[in-house]
Amino acid sequence: MADLDREGLAARAEEAAAGLAAAGVELVAMTFVDNSGITRTKAVPLSRVATAAAWGVGASNSFDFFAFDDEIVPGEYSAGPVGDLRLHLDPDRLVALAGLPGWAWTPADRYDQEGAVHEQDQRGLAKRAVRRLAEQGYTAKLAFEIEWVVAADDAPDDPSAAVLGPAYGFARLSQHAGYLRALVSALDSQGVAVEQVHPEYAAGQFELSVAAEDPVRAADTAVLVRQTIRAVSGEHGLRASFSPKFSASGVGNGGHVHLSIQRGDTNVFAGGDRVFGLTPAAESFAAGILDRLPALLAVGAPSVASYLRLLPHHWAGVFRGWGLENRETPLRLVRGVAGDRHRAANLEVKCFDQAANPYLVVAGLLFTGLAGLAEEATLPEPVDVDPGSLTEDERRERGIERLPTTLDAAVAAFESEPVLTESFGRPLATTLAELRRHEIRVFAAATPEQVTAALRWVY
Ligand code: GLU
Ligand code: MG
Repeated sequence: MADLDREGLAARAEEAAAGLAAAGVELVAMTFVDNSGITRTKAVPLSRVATAAAWGVGASNSFDFFAFDDEIVPGEYSAGPVGDLRLHLDPDRLVALAGLPGWAWTPADRYDQEGAVHEQDQRGLAKRAVRRLAEQGYTAKLAFEIEWVVAADDAPDDPSAAVLGPAYGFARLSQHAGYLRALVSALDSQGVAVEQVHPEYAAGQFELSVAAEDPVRAADTAVLVRQTIRAVSGEHGLRASFSPKFSASGVGNGGHVHLSIQRGDTNVFAGGDRVFGLTPAAESFAAGILDRLPALLAVGAPSVASYLRLLPHHWAGVFRGWGLENRETPLRLVRGVAGDRHRAANLEVKCFDQAANPYLVVAGLLFTGLAGLAEEATLPEPVDVDPGSLTEDERRERGIERLPTTLDAAVAAFESEPVLTESFGRPLATTLAELRRHEIRVFAAATPEQVTAALRWVY
């Protein structure tokens, strides 16, 4: 691992700052996403950008132990209030925020004071996963789909007061046409390639998808898109909830991930001689993920609320299996249209939500996919029905089991999955389990209504 190139970072930051100053930017918010999936931030004036890139700004290492409720959970690796880290601003992702005039944003990398990547830095871990993939001769393309529920600022518990019209309804789109237009235009001005936006199924729900990109950049984009939705919603008297489950009944907010891997310029999810045109590499990569989905849920569905969302017949994918264009399997192979498959074919992971730290999601998917490649793993038979419509016996015969139905069960699966615990490293893996157990304790006696209310505006 190369040392921090402090001079290079400072030079690139100076250059970016000149452009931002011309655009009227005065402050830069640096974000990182913590182990509970919450985006935390520190800001610097524009004049400090080069220093913050090269030398970082101080940040307590207790941030690793922050829970969803801002409790600092004493963990095996915590040193309490003692110690400091450096948040290094990434000059290559700096962008002026259309929804927050005078402000720019960029993700931060967390280093220790000696200049080494912090052992619990989630973005650093995602970068490491990308490097491991490159060592095997592959690159990945990835995108997060963002679903959110909109409520009026003055009636925040009832989305149907702010958003009229049916699921996928044009009436809903028309009512909020100005809002959606402002949102897409803000994202466009921030360099985000929006591919689609639509009213979703649940009351008050919308969805926005973006183009696939380098996995670490895709995780950055997920942070930026949510921040932009929040800001533009505020300008329209609205609030946005990204929680896995806005209310105890109904359909939740997913955080689906689309990913594919390439060898050179060739997408290995198309043009192969395996089922549905998969190549052996794509099959093994997907199988490595499928085999470890129970453990991955502790990363991708990390909240107690996640398990209120993970229900059969909710298009969230709760039975371990995969299928071609099957929206009830957690892994949906998206093949694309004949003639366009080399570009379009990808794997959609449907069981994840936006309580997840997107950098940990990237790392978890790439490391488990890599394990599948190393094992030359193969996929079971694809599932071509709604697995929830099969009887238990039929599912057993087909080897389709239910994914963990509680956070507790997912954490136990995570702790006994060496591919994840070893690639994440013991400090991070231990802390993730401790934080999830804290949340389980806090909600031990809570009703689904209490859980959804407590988490509604957290993510
Ligand atoms: N909202 C659903 C979920 O909880 C997903 C709907 C869809 O397939 O886009 O994941
Ligand atoms: Mg959707």
